[in-house]
Amino acid sequence: MFLLVIILTMLLSIYASWKVSSNYRKYSQVRASSGMTGAEVAQRILDLNNIRDVSIHSAQGELVDHYDPSNRRLVLSEANYYGQSVAALGVAAHECGHAIQHQQLYAPLQWRMAAVGITTMAGTIIPIVGFAGMLFMPKLAIPVLAVAFGIVMVFQLVTLPVEFDATARAKKILLATGAVTPGAEFDAMNKVLSAAALTYVAAFLSALAQFAHYAFLLLGQRREEE
Ligand SMILES: [Zn+2]
Repeated sequence: MFLLVIILTMLLSIYASWKVSSNYRKYSQVRASSGMTGAEVAQRILDLNNIRDVSIHSAQGELVDHYDPSNRRLVLSEANYYGQSVAALGVAAHECGHAIQHQQLYAPLQWRMAAVGITTMAGTIIPIVGFAGMLFMPKLAIPVLAVAFGIVMVFQLVTLPVEFDATARAKKILLATGAVTPGAEFDAMNKVLSAAALTYVAAFLSALAQFAHYAFLLLGQRREEE
């Protein structure tokens, strides 16, 4: 049963990332009539929110866009930094959404930042324990994996409000600033950001399925011992 659930969540993840790249490719060809670049929109949004300590950078690679709260850097892939497409503006505004969350001490973002260290640790442990541990010491590996996947699941759960909120802010700001016009431009931008949101839902569901799998193994183990 769990195997089926895990396969289904994997398929959802594959579908979501395919949807992101196909929507992104399609709508990075649709130029926004405002003629603004991703970098210009990002600067405008930061200015409007009185955020002076965040710098905007371009980076090589496709969809490497992110906001780095520890260094207060807003990183846009070259295509989005220089691009004038509805996709570029959507992504740039979404990353600004995270900078605004950081400025406003938005609680889920604070939780997520606090959980990064332990989640990275769990992510390092999982493949090692999952392979060598399950082979040689399953009794010890199962509780370790249950805890590690539990940590990853909580992290992915906290990521959901952070991502949905950043996208909601992006949509509002893009319309308010006139960077994207209502109608076809807005709908296209919306499709890009909604597909990206789906990848986070898929990541959460797959972490949940993995956690449930090891939690049930652990329960079975306890029952055998009794
Ligand atoms: Zn985001």
